[in-house]
Amino acid sequence: MVSFRPSRHGARRIRVSFEFFPPKTPDMEATLWASIERLAPLAPNFVSVTYGAGGSTRERTHNTVARIVRGTPLRPAAHLTCVAATRDEVNEVVRSYWDAGVRHIVALRGDPIAGIGAKYEPHPGGYDQTCDLVAGIKRIGNFEVSVSAYPEKHPEAASLDADIDALRKKVDCGADRAITQFFFDNDLYLRYLDTVRSRGIDIPIVPGILPVQNFKQAASFAARAGASVPEWLAQRFEGLEEDVDTRKLIAAAVAAEQVLDLVDRGVTEFHFYTMNRADLVYAVCHLLGLRPVPKVEAERAAA
Ligand code: FAD
Repeated sequence: MVSFRPSRHGARRIRVSFEFFPPKTPDMEATLWASIERLAPLAPNFVSVTYGAGGSTRERTHNTVARIVRGTPLRPAAHLTCVAATRDEVNEVVRSYWDAGVRHIVALRGDPIAGIGAKYEPHPGGYDQTCDLVAGIKRIGNFEVSVSAYPEKHPEAASLDADIDALRKKVDCGADRAITQFFFDNDLYLRYLDTVRSRGIDIPIVPGILPVQNFKQAASFAARAGASVPEWLAQRFEGLEEDVDTRKLIAAAVAAEQVLDLVDRGVTEFHFYTMNRADLVYAVCHLLGLRPVPKVEAERAAA
């Protein structure tokens, strides 16, 4: 990816990736493809498509990813979890991605089938933990594999140290990159990065950025994900529940402030949780210095 953004520390090469979820209805499908078309000219490093809880979007994820391979110059990454499937079933999904030309999987354990907060029980005959899934995927094909990382620790982890041990296992099994849960306090991420590096983990730990399009929704995601919401963030959106236009401007300002501060502090790669909407993410990428590249160049970048 393509942009050199001047910062207080000199020009830096910025790379971005975008996350989408598979659409449920024809209207949502139209929104998704309009967003992909708008963001594609920014030539992201990759775009990823999530996998529904309990494997509920298996076909829709596959269809979306396969259409990205067929119809765009983008490099897609398919999310995949260990939940509610035997190893053979999961391996079958992995092989079908390979056959469709997909070369990147975001490997996850997934949430307990009984819901967040319940005890996680591996499926009998399934992959136990993400590290086993990562190893299984690498056995099937030469996939690039990304995994999750949690700057505020995964809610089920006994401690941040224990969670970093789990990340270490995923790296030992072959993970090439970690993408973080979203966070709003950059100090949290940078402290986490220092700790991870001090433990000898050297894969990229790409910050996951959630531009806050709707504060109430973001706060509810954060509560479920164990991510903290600083008081200052709530205050910025206070009183704007009915004022969509001002909310959009504040959302852009907040997201810009977050990523530009990270760039100033040496971060050069970002993963955006787009919620299938392009405008805010496009604006933030513009501020990062990204500009649309001609189709031919985008195709060459993806090759
Ligand atoms: P892991 O990081 O593997 O760990 C989960 C817990 O188990 C942690 O407490 C960890 O410390 C512990 N643990 C892990 N390995 C071991 C081990 N070997 N021994 C002992 N303890 C261990 N969910 C979806 O359903 N679909 C998606 O598409 C999806 N995409 C995501 C993308 C990103 C970037 C992120 C950050 C999360 C995503 N999630 C998704 C959510 C994720 O599935 C949940 O957070 C789930 O509860 C944990 O899965 P994980 O792979 O992140 O877990």
